[in-house]
Order: sequence, then C-alpha cells, then structure tokens
Amino acid sequence: MIITIKRNANQQSVDRLMKELENKGVGTQVIEGSDFNVYGLTGDTTVLDEKAIAAHECVKNVVRIAAKYKLANRMFHPEDTIININGVKIGGQEDIVIIGGPCAVENKEMIVELAHQVKDAGALMLRGGAYKPRTSPYAFQGMRTEGILAMVAARETTGLPICTELMGEAQIEEFEEHVDMIQIGARNMQNFELLKELGKRTTKPILLKRGFSNTIDEWIMSAEYIMASGNPNVVLCERGIRTFETETRNTLDLSVIPIIKEKTHLPIIIDPSHATGDWKLVEAASLAAVAAGADGLIIEVHNNPECAFSDGAQCLKPKKFITLIDKARKIAQVIGRGI
Ligand code: PEP
Ligand code: MN
Repeated sequence: MIITIKRNANQQSVDRLMKELENKGVGTQVIEGSDFNVYGLTGDTTVLDEKAIAAHECVKNVVRIAAKYKLANRMFHPEDTIININGVKIGGQEDIVIIGGPCAVENKEMIVELAHQVKDAGALMLRGGAYKPRTSPYAFQGMRTEGILAMVAARETTGLPICTELMGEAQIEEFEEHVDMIQIGARNMQNFELLKELGKRTTKPILLKRGFSNTIDEWIMSAEYIMASGNPNVVLCERGIRTFETETRNTLDLSVIPIIKEKTHLPIIIDPSHATGDWKLVEAASLAAVAAGADGLIIEVHNNPECAFSDGAQCLKPKKFITLIDKARKIAQVIGRGI
C-alpha cells in the first residue's frame, strides 16, 4: 500500500497515522519529495482499511498494491491448488471435470436413473439439489433429508461423488456425514456467518458460486472467509451475473476464468445452465468455457425437462448432454487437457 501525505500536513495527524500503522504491525518506508512525502507500507497490509487511512487529515491519497486476501492469493501460493473430491481431482492440469444432474432431486428413482445416465455420458460427479433456494415460498422447496438420502443411494449404485447445495448452518452435520462436495449457492455467497461455520466445522470441498451481483474480488473474499476459518478446499463456480440483458437468464462472465487463475490458485468451474437459463445455449457456453480454461462444468440434466420441478427450461436431455461432452472433449484436446 502506498500513502501520499499532503504538503504542509499537520504533524500531529502524521504522527497519529504512523502510530496506528505501527500498532497494526505494518512498517513504513518514506520517500521525501518537494511536494509530498510518499510512504510505502511493508508487511501484512490485509489488516488495513484504505478508506479509514484516507480519512486521516494528513492523507492525500492511498493506493492498495497487494490484494486484501492472503490464503486465496496466487502471490503467496504460486502453484495451482488441486481439490480432491473422493478421488475426483479438480484444478491444475487435471482433466476437466463434468458434473451433471438435475436442478432438484424429485424422487429416488429419477436421481438414480439420471446418475447412471450422466455417468455413462462421461460425467465424474452427480449434482442434485435437496435444499432448494426458491424465489417464491410457494415453489417446490426440495426433498431435504430424503433428497440427500436419494443422492447417497445414487452414489452407492454409480460410485459418483455427490454435490448438493447447503442453505443453512443447521445442515452442516448432515452434509458432513453424507455429501462429497458442498455447494454454496449464489444467494449465500456473502452469508459470512455461514461461510465461517463451514470453515470451522468441515473440511469437505466447498463449491462456492459467485453471487449474481458480486465483483470478482468480493467473491474471492468469500472464499477467503472459508479458508481463513480453517477449510482450504474451495472450488469457485461462475454461474452468470445480472446485467441489463434480458435475452438470457444471466450473463455468463467468461473473462473470470483467466482473471481468477491470475489472482488465485483455486480451481474454477462454470455453470452454463444457470448462466444462460436456456438449454439451447448451454452447449455453446460450455464449449466456450472449456476453450477459456475452465477446470470443470456443472450442467443440469433431466429426462423430462417439461415436467421438471425446477429449472426445466435450462435442463439438457441426456442425449444432448452426451453430444456436448463429446464436443467439449475435442476442444479440451486442442488446449492440451482431457475430459
Ligand atoms: C442451483 O445450482 O440449482 C442453483 C440454485 O444455483 P445458483 O445458486 O447459482 O442460482
Ligand atoms: Mn437450478
């Protein structure tokens, strides 16, 4: 961080600021100029709030050089993190992982059948919501524990690790017992108390979706919350953000892939289903994500989308899912990765 102190600054104000920095364990190196003095801060500046520093009377401006996150920061952890989900590895130069399954678990038979279908298509993990965050309280809220147990049954017959959304602290124990990867949905990305509990109470891999109106840095700070509380196993998931565009459900921000890889060492996967909201767009978005370097895709699949309890419009039928994976495999080869 670099602080510029005003010319003719009040010495008492400068002394107060220096004392404050010293108390926070941050060192200073000064360059004296004819118009202003510039202080370069050394040490751990993540504890500092640049707005609070700028509030000092003597300060002309403050520029943050290093990001506020430490544990997620590529700068302090140059090598890619690879997350192992019961044998399925995501990140680095590992194969691109496809996660497939319905938006919501609707009954045990359907999830078991779909688990076999997505596995045969080439998926390495099964998705399916048991606790559903719905905009309307009158919409299907998910099968809850029964849905989790149906996912467990699907894992038992296929061997696919399961990924499902956790909505509240009360579910942590249940997920710790049964689930392989815990999804934190867009709506909970900034539920900081929940993120802290997840860090403290589990080391299961967390799939952290980007909130629909959150910046990349806010998203990384949420990963930092989980990591700083004790769980280093975070996979980021871009699922589209809200923009002025109404043609698609959300706007898929593919530029996050190289940006996340530059800023962090965490794996990043793409959810083309929620990003587009339209099954006809899911293949194009998936192929683009693979070409851009995504470490995985999470895709909604359903045998009878017209009758799906949620998100039918964006679900692929298994046949289209197979075609998508075949095409994605060819693109992955071009960039030197497998699927
Ligand atoms: C989901 O995966 O079904 C879901 C609700 O996702 P998001 O939190 O991205 O909306
Ligand atoms: Mn959904």
